Amino acid sequence: MDDLQDSSSSPFKTYHCLCSNLVLATAHTLESLPRRNEPVQDNALILPPATSISVSSDIETEDALSQSTPSALLNVLPDRRPIVVQREDGFEKRILLRCGRCRLVLGYAMTALQGSSPVYLLPGSLVETSEMSKGTRPEVPAWAEQTT
Ligand SMILES: [Zn+2]
Repeated sequence: MDDLQDSSSSPFKTYHCLCSNLVLATAHTLESLPRRNEPVQDNALILPPATSISVSSDIETEDALSQSTPSALLNVLPDRRPIVVQREDGFEKRILLRCGRCRLVLGYAMTALQGSSPVYLLPGSLVETSEMSKGTRPEVPAWAEQTT
């Protein structure tokens, strides 16, 4: 594992869980991603569709990314069962995506994980590689603390 490789020579940004596990490689920057609007109040970032999700780290970052899949989640464990979150306008079924190492909730997807649906990321759970040394603390919303 080369967790701390210098990404400055790559067109892709890499992000880590707060435990330093490499979890995201993307052609986007988190700052540029749109956020979910009201009435969803978790401020989640919307990672565009065609994201590959892998539970292993054996996959080569550069190979995992292409024009059609500009983002790759690595070392991420989707929950088997969705949680139901109440919104002001109804209910939403979410499958939480956890860090494969420390189980921190990094984001979620709606019901079944599919390459064609967006993945939502919790900005408080991700640290850019270059920010790793700052010791950021997690900001996990209350609903994400629910476990089934
Ligand atoms: Zn972690």
